[in-house]
Amino acid sequence: MLFREVAEYYEKLEGLSSRLDMIALLGEMLKKAGKEEIKPLIYMTQGVLAPPFESLEFGIAEKTLEDALAMASGHERAEIERMYRETGDLGLVSESIMQKSKLRRMSAKEQEFLDIYGSMVKIASSSGSGSKDSKIRMLSGIMGSLSPVEAKYLARYPLGQLRLGLGDSTIIEALSIVASGDRSEKAAVERAYNICSDLGYVGEIVAKEGIEGIRRMRVTLFKPIRPALAERLPTASDILERMGGKCAVEQKYDGFRCQVHKDGRKVKLYSRNLEETTAMLPDIVAAVVAHVKADKAIFEGEALAFNETTSEFMPFQETIQRKRKHGVGGMAETLPLKLFAFDLMFLDGKDMLAEPYEKRRSSLESAISKNDTITLSSRIITSSPKELDSFFESSIENGLEGIVAKDLSAPYVAGARKFSWIKMKRSYRGKIEDTIDVVIIGYYLGKGSRASFEFGGLLCATYNKEDDVFESVSRLGTGFTEKQMKQLSELLSKHVSKSKPKNVRSQVEPDYWVYPEFVVTVQADEITKSPMHMCGRHKEKDGTEVGYALRFPRLVGEDAVRSDKSPGDATTSKEIAEMYSEQKRVSLKG
Ligand code: ATP
Repeated sequence: MLFREVAEYYEKLEGLSSRLDMIALLGEMLKKAGKEEIKPLIYMTQGVLAPPFESLEFGIAEKTLEDALAMASGHERAEIERMYRETGDLGLVSESIMQKSKLRRMSAKEQEFLDIYGSMVKIASSSGSGSKDSKIRMLSGIMGSLSPVEAKYLARYPLGQLRLGLGDSTIIEALSIVASGDRSEKAAVERAYNICSDLGYVGEIVAKEGIEGIRRMRVTLFKPIRPALAERLPTASDILERMGGKCAVEQKYDGFRCQVHKDGRKVKLYSRNLEETTAMLPDIVAAVVAHVKADKAIFEGEALAFNETTSEFMPFQETIQRKRKHGVGGMAETLPLKLFAFDLMFLDGKDMLAEPYEKRRSSLESAISKNDTITLSSRIITSSPKELDSFFESSIENGLEGIVAKDLSAPYVAGARKFSWIKMKRSYRGKIEDTIDVVIIGYYLGKGSRASFEFGGLLCATYNKEDDVFESVSRLGTGFTEKQMKQLSELLSKHVSKSKPKNVRSQVEPDYWVYPEFVVTVQADEITKSPMHMCGRHKEKDGTEVGYALRFPRLVGEDAVRSDKSPGDATTSKEIAEMYSEQKRVSLKG
């Protein structure tokens, strides 16, 4: 497939607003790709070179792109910078510069998509002294041979900002079209994605083996499974009622999630967002080799620092800070990590996902021999709300976050937030007990004391997974430090969209629209119905249309935006609707 054809599809996709049309067109593009092309084509369309766990980053900064563009076009670097400041989009700048460039006309040539991908991988892999210059030369060589439209998308790839409005679920539905001609195989494709976290690979299986290949796919070592997530409920009796009267209740450790893959002496670890973290956690790797009896296994747990002398758990922020301070080796010595294992997904050749929780837990117990580093999460099995409450209280006293209740007979639900796991954190009746992750869709200019930052607050949205769009849920104006405000105004000014991005639903107009690319975590007092916001928009019995909004939201956490969460990981509109009805029920009861 020629890169020109790919760019033409992107151009058309950018112009579409109906999601069904987008799915159909994307399906057409993926069908057209050859069996060897579909995998890299999916990655590049996602704005990456490889799945997260392969840690192959483009490694091309904005400045490098600007240098390459100047070299390829013969234009002044300062002019390029000025245009970038004005438009906030190096793609558009590249398009317009290459349009005007005389140099381009001399070296224009059609390029295969696979050659472009190959060159990007080569650029990404070059490191060491002189690599910056060689990256600029290689990039300028490619840039110079492209048409203006192709140059636009080439420049957008490494910045991860293709801006076509395509999330995972749209790509999944397009792959269903490739596999079966319509969207009926969406669930099968999604299951395949959830067990390997690699949409490119799923696309390749679709192209080579069809839907049967997708159905045959099983959990594989060294392809991380998309993590199961927990729903929320506010009280012990709610949890027991939902769980059918009896459940397991585990301590909820506030560390970082760790998915362990072991094949003999080979061990790899993956984080919650599926990046490989093996090199950062040598003490856990050593313990897995020494104490996991099974030859082949995939299991997961929560890693956190534990002070043996005082029996204190170190909360997540502190564990991370100490890790930064002491480096990898020093950390292992000064502050040993403990891994609290809580689930098992694969054991000696057997896919355990469909097994009930109790079976997975007992197999996990027998797979690990007694040692100081890896222990099983502590838990009770109960049918008494009183017992559940006192286990919760004792977890809080021990410095933990709360509990996660688990349905004894449920399978492991990869990649989904389901009621087979229910979390309960320290809470106040009737108030939201958990933080909410929202996506920035716009920002306001500062007034009064904030005028100097050009930042006065954010407009935020939740994720509507079914429609793959972001729905306004709240303005956010409190909780920011001065440093965070400066960071946000600098970052967001580069991601401004001239009009409302097409994958955003909002009637509220910010001063500047922003492409939905960044997640922030907020705490709010309550969820209220709102005539203004689009989150969970529905018709009431009396015919009025309302959505949901957050009341008194404030930013939490040290970093302004979450580098570990992508927009697709944000709290969904459906969850907000569920939280609203829970909140209402609790306040009626209480
Ligand atoms: P949070 O920030 O609250 O951890 P999250 O979206 O990462 O939110 P949740 O689904 O809310 O994840 O809660 C489950 C998380 O709790 C898991 O990702 C895991 O890291 C952590 N955890 C700690 N202890 C346990 C346990 N015993 N069982 C399952 N998960 C646990």
